[in-house]
Amino acid sequence: MQRLVEVETVSFEEESNEQSLRPSNWDDYIGQEKIKKNLRVFIDASRKRAEALDHILFYGPPGLGKTTLSYLISNEMNSNIKITAGPMIEKSGDLAAILTNLEEGDILFIDEIHRLSPAVEEILYPAMEDYRLDIIIGSGPSAQTVKIDLPRFTLIGATTRAGMLSNPLRERFGMHFRMQFYTEEELAKIIQKASIKLGIECEDDSSVEMSKRSRGTPRVALRLLRMVRDFSQVKGEKTILLNTCKYALDELGINENGFDEMDINLLELLISNRGRPMGLGTMAAALSEDEGTIEDAIEPYLLANGYIERTARGRVASVKTYEMFRLTPPQNKLDENNQGSLF
Ligand code: ADP
Repeated sequence: MQRLVEVETVSFEEESNEQSLRPSNWDDYIGQEKIKKNLRVFIDASRKRAEALDHILFYGPPGLGKTTLSYLISNEMNSNIKITAGPMIEKSGDLAAILTNLEEGDILFIDEIHRLSPAVEEILYPAMEDYRLDIIIGSGPSAQTVKIDLPRFTLIGATTRAGMLSNPLRERFGMHFRMQFYTEEELAKIIQKASIKLGIECEDDSSVEMSKRSRGTPRVALRLLRMVRDFSQVKGEKTILLNTCKYALDELGINENGFDEMDINLLELLISNRGRPMGLGTMAAALSEDEGTIEDAIEPYLLANGYIERTARGRVASVKTYEMFRLTPPQNKLDENNQGSLF
């Protein structure tokens, strides 16, 4: 029976909402087909060998389903899952306590694993490799290392920044999976399944409309669905109709590309620099946003869809962005584009 020991997430309300919409079986988990296929092979193999699954690293922007996949894996392996996050493990003793409380076959999920301190990481290395805890007692020449055997467990690490993970830590994960943004069709399916769980019907056109504005991210799609449902219910409608859906999304300031106010501010800022690259620090100061949020949450979708480009000297708006704002791109961007089409 799956047991949830410790949960750390955004807010209680958001977590309980997400919990209720979280897929509980593989078929409800839409998309990420390659990852699912590979995972199922590894899960089947380790079940046949009656061994713990190898350690897994998921990386990609927030809201793409890393935590959900980890729950599904624990379900499939019929094992307990303990959930924690890098910033919550402050001292090596905290991690030692978590590790010694694990049972054979348990899954330990560490979100934001790139935020573990080097001292805590040191404890993880022998734990991951040899299922062993090395504890140093005392200091100086009389210091002694005590070795404690750990049960065979599976560590699932999730990170929005694979680049920030130290090499020794990255190499200790047997499987690495990069999460992809979702297509509109996949998001529309997720919205349809979730609206059934929420007890409201959703017109196909409405789910398509919401999926277009979800930045390729299920968490965003589900947030839009909940907000649009509120508009429908206030109007006394039993089905989410396209008109109400469009009205609600416009009222909420979500434009046709799914951009919210922060995306638009960021794109306008880059446009105002007229083709000159802008550094992350300058962008963060101008937008009153922290650099991490820009890099982890805002930029990836804009980069993946060609709205901004990253150069060695900073970020620039692409020709596509100028066109979206109905502005003429600066000459250097046009020249680059022409060169691109020549070769
Ligand atoms: P992450 O851990 O990557 O930040 P989560 O796993 O917490 O993302 O997913 C955010 C929300 O999106 C969850 O409520 C989950 O129900 C939903 N979700 C994510 N991926 C999928 C998917 N592939 N199919 C259906 N729902 C999904």
